[in-house]
Amino acid sequence: MWRLLYVATWITFTPVLLTGFLTVNVKNTRLNGMKRYSTVDTSFASVAPEISDKNPLRVVIAGAGVGGLVLANSLSKISHIDVKVLEKTTEFKRFGGPIQLASNALQLLKEMDKSIYDEINEKFTPTGDKMNGIKDGIRTEWYAKFDLKKPALERNMPFTGVIDRSDLQEIYLNALPPGVVSNGDGVTSFKVNPDGNGVKVILNSGNEVDADVLIGADGIWSSVRATMRNEPAKGDGSGAKYSGYTLYAGELAYNSPDNGKVGYKVYIGPGQYFVITDIGNGNYQWYAFLARPPGGNTEKPDGTVPYLKEIFAGWSEECHAILDVTKEHEIGQRDLYDRPPSVIKPWSKGPVALTGDAIHAMMPNLGQGGCQAIEDAYVVTEELSTIKTRDEIATALSTYNSRRLIRSAAVQGLSRFASDIIIIGFDTPAKITFSPEFKVENFNYAGIVTKILQPIMPLFFWVQFNFLYDGYKNENKIDFVAAFSFVVLGGLILLLNVGNLFGVLGLFGLETAETFGIGEGIGSLDAGEGFTETLQQFFSTLSDII
Ligand SMILES: Cc1cc2nc3c(=O)[nH]c(=O)nc-3n(C[C@H](O)[C@H](O)[C@H](O)COP(=O)(O)OP(=O)(O)OC[C@H]3O[C@@H](n4cnc5c(N)ncnc54)[C@H](O)[C@@H]3O)c2cc1C
Repeated sequence: MWRLLYVATWITFTPVLLTGFLTVNVKNTRLNGMKRYSTVDTSFASVAPEISDKNPLRVVIAGAGVGGLVLANSLSKISHIDVKVLEKTTEFKRFGGPIQLASNALQLLKEMDKSIYDEINEKFTPTGDKMNGIKDGIRTEWYAKFDLKKPALERNMPFTGVIDRSDLQEIYLNALPPGVVSNGDGVTSFKVNPDGNGVKVILNSGNEVDADVLIGADGIWSSVRATMRNEPAKGDGSGAKYSGYTLYAGELAYNSPDNGKVGYKVYIGPGQYFVITDIGNGNYQWYAFLARPPGGNTEKPDGTVPYLKEIFAGWSEECHAILDVTKEHEIGQRDLYDRPPSVIKPWSKGPVALTGDAIHAMMPNLGQGGCQAIEDAYVVTEELSTIKTRDEIATALSTYNSRRLIRSAAVQGLSRFASDIIIIGFDTPAKITFSPEFKVENFNYAGIVTKILQPIMPLFFWVQFNFLYDGYKNENKIDFVAAFSFVVLGGLILLLNVGNLFGVLGLFGLETAETFGIGEGIGSLDAGEGFTETLQQFFSTLSDII
């Protein structure tokens, strides 16, 4: 019962809490902008406050991932900014598979650098102009389609699509002036000048680099964040948590019967899901998304394909067809961690700020993690490019924090919500057929709710894509309309699913436990706990806020 109250409280009070959040956040912004340091450290060379072509703003970026490279490229075009990227790995290797760039991120890349955008387009496979959606994982028929095309066309934005991560990386590395990126010496920590001006970036080798601004774009286990917040980079206290889900992914050349017509298919069913996506040039990627303890070290004596085929026994032939032709070396396994952006702990402190996964790592379900890092890069560039003196740095970075916080938190939360709801809440939709004979299928609470939600899902996707494709410039600190739409529609889905999650509709007298259980090998994780954790995570974020 308390769980129901929990959910009802969320639905009722979120708008109020968001308002409270805004007030606190504005307060934080003001505090961050204030100088807190008064003593002088002579190891910091004094630099004239005015920023000019002759006395440029020195920006160091830790990490040459998606966010770091996009930011470096846009800052490198500004004559009064001198940018350096410090990447910990010794060399850039071609790895990582495809990344989806949604219309919001693609539009920003276009506005930031048209020639790079044109290069990206040459290697890009649009999926947003094709059919995309959710399929019934058992019966193979479409459950709900999402229209990525219309919201992009209405805003004159490029279509969502995919590019190989290595291609994207190569395009950015080639575009940057020589000497901007250096490899093989990662950032371990930093020291801020006690007078608030200047930061010493400390590297793994013990070397130090003087800068006016340090941006931590060093990914989910960020050393910059660990130093800024005096917390561990990894593990307990780091703020990043195992999501409860592990992912098997395959990438292969595949002769799909719907090639050229369908971009992205999510197969839903009891307790797990499967995704197949066109990544261009006759290649496909699939994901098997499972609720399991981290490590993926379950015994697989016959290999990963037979292991997954067993787990997905009885599922659509389309899932099995692609598994059947996947070779073992084409499969990878990855545990999924995420990090809700904290509110009481700011993203910036004096001349240091965090971007991308370092501050808001999210589940891959919406394909937005890298896209949100690109939005961060856009806003950081806007804020840093307009300041005239070094005294304005701290305020510029905390304004970046305020502009990005709500939107990134909404996308992060929605990504988590999507994984939990698809895995825990959705099932094979209930179905009654009259011909050739009367048949009732999956007529339990989960099946009925999944059926009831079917006509609502396109509306939910409409809200989601309109939210993502609007406001990508992050001009407003908070978009109340978008937040409200999320709360109402998300709340409805949550409310309908709550009975499923906690067995309320054992009212139907059906065996609900089996529907809710996630299967063998899951240890202490079960559907109820996973969902409760999401709510607890949500409430702990809210308690951070207030
Ligand atoms: C399975 C999966 C699929 C995904 N699919 C998508 C998708 O389709 N679309 C999408 O937008 N997002 C996707 N994401 C999320 C996306 O990959 C990340 O959000 C994105 O890479 C974050 O970019 P970043 O630059 O912040 O960090 P990263 O890309 O992680 O880059 C961090 C960089 O910093 C370097 N580094 C680390 N520590 C240090 C240090 N101490 N000093 C210097 N350098 C350091 C690292 O070597 C790395 O190069 C997916 C994620 C997963 C797990």
